[in-house]
Amino acid sequence: MSEFEYDLFTIGAGSGGVRASRIAASHGAKVAIAEEHRVGGTCVIRGCVPKKMLVYGSMFAEELSHAENYGWSVGEKSFDWPSLRDFVNSDVDRLEGLYGKTLESHEVDLFEERATITGPHTVKLASGREITAKHILVAVGSWPAMPDFPGVEHCISSNEVFHLEEQPKCLMVAGGGYIAMEFAAIFNALGSEVTVVNRSGRILRSYDEQIVERMLHIAMGRGIDFKMHSLIQKVEKQEEGCLLVDLGDSNPVQVDQVLIATGRSPKTTGLGCENAGVELDEKGAIKVDEYNKTSCDSIYAVGDVTNRVQLTPVAIREGHAFADTVFGGNPRTINYDHIPSAVFSQPPLAGVGLTEREARNTYGNVKVYSSDFRPMKNIFSPHAERGLYKMIVDEASEKILGIHMIGPESPEIMQVAAVAVKAGLTKQAFDDTVALHPSMAEELVLLK
Ligand code: NDP
Repeated sequence: MSEFEYDLFTIGAGSGGVRASRIAASHGAKVAIAEEHRVGGTCVIRGCVPKKMLVYGSMFAEELSHAENYGWSVGEKSFDWPSLRDFVNSDVDRLEGLYGKTLESHEVDLFEERATITGPHTVKLASGREITAKHILVAVGSWPAMPDFPGVEHCISSNEVFHLEEQPKCLMVAGGGYIAMEFAAIFNALGSEVTVVNRSGRILRSYDEQIVERMLHIAMGRGIDFKMHSLIQKVEKQEEGCLLVDLGDSNPVQVDQVLIATGRSPKTTGLGCENAGVELDEKGAIKVDEYNKTSCDSIYAVGDVTNRVQLTPVAIREGHAFADTVFGGNPRTINYDHIPSAVFSQPPLAGVGLTEREARNTYGNVKVYSSDFRPMKNIFSPHAERGLYKMIVDEASEKILGIHMIGPESPEIMQVAAVAVKAGLTKQAFDDTVALHPSMAEELVLLK
C-alpha cells in the first residue's frame, strides 16, 4: 500500500488541472482535485467561452443591419442584455456540468473547496482536512490585476462583467490588451458608449503594428473613443450610482461602469508555496523547469500560475505533458514556438510567428507580402472596413516567419495558416496552392 492517500492531488480544476488529472487517472494514478470556485476555471466559467458567446450575441447588431440589403424584413429591433447574459450563463452551467462528469468518469475525487499547500506531500482543505499525495500539481491560474487608485472598489473586472444587472450605457475600459479590446468591441456593438483608457500610445503590444493600426482605425470608425497616454487617477461613486472618473486632466468622465483589464496575475497569494519550498518569481509566478517541476521535487505547476504563456490551449498541453511525464512513463516538454493567437475584437485579428518588427530585428533582411482588401461580406457594411493580411518571409531561406491578419473570421483562417508556419513552409508553398474562390482566405495564396 502507498504511504500516500493519492498519487496526485491537483489544486485548481481549470483547463490545465482537469486535463492533467484525467490523463494521470487514465495512466492508472489515484487522483483528487480541489476547486474553490467552479469546475472549468477561468476559460470556461469567466473567460474565453462566455466571452466568445457575447461576441456572437453582439455580432447580430451588424448582421441585422445588413439583413434588409439581402431582402430580409426584420421589423423593429431591440436588444435585451439580461436575455443574452442569462443565455450565456446557462451554457456556462452546462459546460461546468460536463467538466464535472469528465472528472467523475475518470474516477477523480473532487473537493469543492480551497486547498493550500502545507508541505511537499500535503495539502489542507478549507474544511480542515489534511490530505497526503505523492505529487501535487498547482494549476490555480491567474486573477485580474487591479491597479491601486482611490475608488478601484467601484470598478469591475472580467470576473464581474458576465453578471452585470444592466447593460452599461457608458462604459470605460482601462487597458489596451486582449480583454480590453474584446469587451470594448462587444459593448460597442451592443450600443453602449465605450471609452478605452490606455497608459501608453500602443495597444496589443504583441501583435503586428500595422494590423493593430488597422484595428484602431476600424474601432474608432465604429465609435469607440480611445484616450491614449491616460491613466485613471480616481473613481468616485455619485449619488445616482454613476461613476465619475478622474483621468488627471480637467475633464472628469461620467460613466456607468469601469472595466479594469490591465493584465492578470498568478494566483499564488495564500497558497502556501513557502511551506514546501516552492519558489516564486518577482511577479509571484511559480518557477518551473521544462517538465513543469517546481523547486520542490514532488510539486509541479502548469498554466497561468507559471506565467509563461497565458493561453488555455497552452495550459492544456502543459497539463497533458506533465501527466504523461510523471504517470505515463513518457517524459514530454512543450514547444512554445509558433503559438497562434487571436483577439476577438470586431473584426477579429490574429497572428502567428514573428511580427514585421521582430523579424527585421532578428533576421535583418525580410520580405513582407500583403493584401489589403475589402471582404465580400462587408459589401453592405456601412463602415466599408478593409481586411489586411501580411506574411513575413526570411529573404535568405524564404521560410515564412510570421502571418498576421485582421478581417472577418481571421482566427478561423489563422489556425490553419499556423500549421504551415509551424511546418516551416515557404511562401512558394502558398503560391503553389490554388485559391479557394470566393473566400477571404484565398488572399493568403495571392499575396503580393
Ligand atoms: P494584457 O496583458 O493583454 O494587456 C494588459 C494591458 O493593460 C496592456 O495594455 C498594459 O499596458 C495595460 N496595463 C498593465 N498594467 C497597467 C496598469 N497598472 N495601469 C494601466 N494599464 C496597465 O492583459 P488582459 O488583462 O487583457 O488579459 C490577460 C491575459 O489573458 C492576456 O495576456 C492573455 O494571455 C489572456 N487572454 C487571452 C485572450 C485570447 O486569447 N483571445 C482573451 C482574453 C485574455 P502595456 O502594454 O503598456 O503594458
